[in-house]
Amino acid sequence: MKQYRDYLARTAGMPKKQLDLLPPKRNVGGTMKAMVLDKVSLVAEKPLRLVDLPQPVPGRGQILVRVSVCGVCHTELDEIEGRVPPSRFPMILGHEIVGTVEGLGPGARRFKKGDRVGIAWINWACGRCPFCLRGEENLCDTAKWTGKDADGGYAQYTVAWEDFAYPIPERFTDVKAAPLLCAGVIGYRALRLSGMENGKVLGLYGFGASAHIVIQVTKYKYPDGKVFVFTRPNQKEHQDLARKLGADWIGATGDTSPEKLNCAIDFTPVGEPVREALRNLEKGGRVVVNAIRKATPIPELDYTEHLWYEKEVKSVANVTRRDAQEFLPLAGEIPIVSETQEFKLEEANEALILLKEGKIRGAAVLTITE
Ligand SMILES: [Zn+2]
Ligand SMILES: [Zn+2]
Repeated sequence: MKQYRDYLARTAGMPKKQLDLLPPKRNVGGTMKAMVLDKVSLVAEKPLRLVDLPQPVPGRGQILVRVSVCGVCHTELDEIEGRVPPSRFPMILGHEIVGTVEGLGPGARRFKKGDRVGIAWINWACGRCPFCLRGEENLCDTAKWTGKDADGGYAQYTVAWEDFAYPIPERFTDVKAAPLLCAGVIGYRALRLSGMENGKVLGLYGFGASAHIVIQVTKYKYPDGKVFVFTRPNQKEHQDLARKLGADWIGATGDTSPEKLNCAIDFTPVGEPVREALRNLEKGGRVVVNAIRKATPIPELDYTEHLWYEKEVKSVANVTRRDAQEFLPLAGEIPIVSETQEFKLEEANEALILLKEGKIRGAAVLTITE
């Protein structure tokens, strides 16, 4: 088969020392189960298909990871429905991956076999463009994204660049660690960009996987700050979780907050909350929009009401490795308690439907068995 021919071509004439670093022979030509997306579809049509595929083989500087769990992220809905289409089909989605290093590609030496690692949304960045050079690899012109440009974690095995994998703090189980890798890391980045400080008021619009982690980071880092949570009016589960995690006030998206917000983060997939957050914002405040795409447009803004007095809107795009390297140890120190709902790999379609309907309490995680 082609994969085996590629393997032979790559390893021909390679010194024994390097050959020893290659994955075990049984991975070559071995198969794995994966849920693949064949084309842009509606999530309601349950488009992911369970298939047997050849196990991937790690290239130079890459590691082969046996996937234990993979978190389910809102971005998968955008990929499936074509708002952020994968760059090729079929594609294995999923970018909140926790697993074990099972093999090393040539030259890979950061990890050893058996190490537990996490893989996040940033799959690769060039390291040479103006953005990468100033530490903004999240904006890299040619970056690749896990589960969009490279196969992700809705599978028994995946490969990753060793420089884009992270050790996971010991105190977390695989399941509890998965949501930290996107929901957590990007939430951390959004919180940093929001300008939140101790004593200030932070508004959170939407209370899903990311916000339920952000509130814990906020309460830890800014103990004298306040967190106001806005959800869809009928989202009792989300509101109960917000209350449990120490929200200072809970209301619906259209409500007027009891105090002006110094900063706000919008995690919702729709446009309306951006305008609502701006309406509730204090002078000089900032709204950070943490969504890769919006399913509905932001309604028309009134300059005087929504933007005057130096109010700002800023989007948060992707993550850098530094975000993950800073956040994961902090998550262990706090420690973040992620609320998770588990599904089997073959139940990915059902998990995605529930996520789209706003019915997941905390984060959905696929557990993947041999
Ligand atoms: Zn770059
Ligand atoms: Zn994500």
